[in-house]
Amino acid sequence: MNRTAPISNVIPARDVEQVMDAIRRAGKIVITTHLSPDGDALGSSLALFHFLKRTGKSVRMIVPNSFPHFLKWMNGTREIEIYEYNPPAAQKIIAHADLIFSMDYNISKRAGDMAPHLDNSPARKILIDHHLLPGRNFDITVSYPEISSTCELLFRLLFQAGKYDELTQTEAECLYCGMMTDTGNFTYNSRDPETFEIVSLLLRKKINKDAIYSQVFDNYSEDRFRLLGFTLSQRMEIYPEIHSALLFLSREDQSRFRFGKGDTEGFANCPLSIKGIFFSTFIREDEGLIKLSFRSRGSFPCNEFAAAFFNGGGHLNASGGEFYGTFDDAIRVFKNGLKSCEEKLKSLAGTRKL
Ligand code: 5GP
Ligand code: MN
Repeated sequence: MNRTAPISNVIPARDVEQVMDAIRRAGKIVITTHLSPDGDALGSSLALFHFLKRTGKSVRMIVPNSFPHFLKWMNGTREIEIYEYNPPAAQKIIAHADLIFSMDYNISKRAGDMAPHLDNSPARKILIDHHLLPGRNFDITVSYPEISSTCELLFRLLFQAGKYDELTQTEAECLYCGMMTDTGNFTYNSRDPETFEIVSLLLRKKINKDAIYSQVFDNYSEDRFRLLGFTLSQRMEIYPEIHSALLFLSREDQSRFRFGKGDTEGFANCPLSIKGIFFSTFIREDEGLIKLSFRSRGSFPCNEFAAAFFNGGGHLNASGGEFYGTFDDAIRVFKNGLKSCEEKLKSLAGTRKL
């Protein structure tokens, strides 16, 4: 590492140049995210959106469906098109794009109903993401699963392209938001010293990191908080011998607390605060499907568990999946899955969390 440049060049210079060249050549640019966009998906997309707009580009941002209220403070959220609200309008924009960015997802399937339209668009396609196993149908792939967040990766790309000096406070805020949310406010996935060098460089853009934390994490409704209390006291099972925990919420439970989008964000992590618990699962009955979230500490591979039993994926310590069937069946499939991993889970005994 060069002493004068605290950030190493993770992305080959040729790839950085290719992305910048694709941007230079493009007339109409579209930025997209995965379903139920989170802080990292929205933060990276909005930072890129502002950067491209500032450099005079015609750019639209389309997300598959709506996002939680605690992310709406980010500059530019009002300009986001929500595919689900008007599919034909979004399809038209996608079909006429010259360049499409896929931010924070590895395969088009993760964009839901928008996926076939992305696949069929004649636009050039660029992936900027940190999930394992990137799809093959991108013209340029910037995929680094070892990087904390897509926001960190986008920062690195812009930094390597020599754009740090011109980066605005707004862009820095969006990038910080995704780095903060994808690392649980820097409590996991964040041991790389360069992650903190980048935070420092973002702070130099005069972002207020404490205010950003509050906007996201101190902005819940009373209902959400009571739902959390209910879930922890009435809907949590602990399996101490296999160091695992389960949280589950039916639709009925959720409507009792007037569930709103994003209200259960972070629930899956809670049982990991219990001594000796290394694997946590949250099963939530949604409309027409069951959503599952998996979290672990240490070596237990959440992504493999999600892939094996719930057609899902994600990262080693955080993954998700879906189940089509009854809520009870989803819980049964999960418990059978746990059984088949019993030996592996038991062997986590005595290990430290990290
Ligand atoms: P969450 O539990 O917060 O919804 O998701 C955690 C991680 O798992 C995210 O990084 C997300 O990309 C991944 N993930 C969530 N749901 C799915 C899914 O249905 N399929 C796949 N492949 N990954 C998912
Ligand atoms: Mn991410």
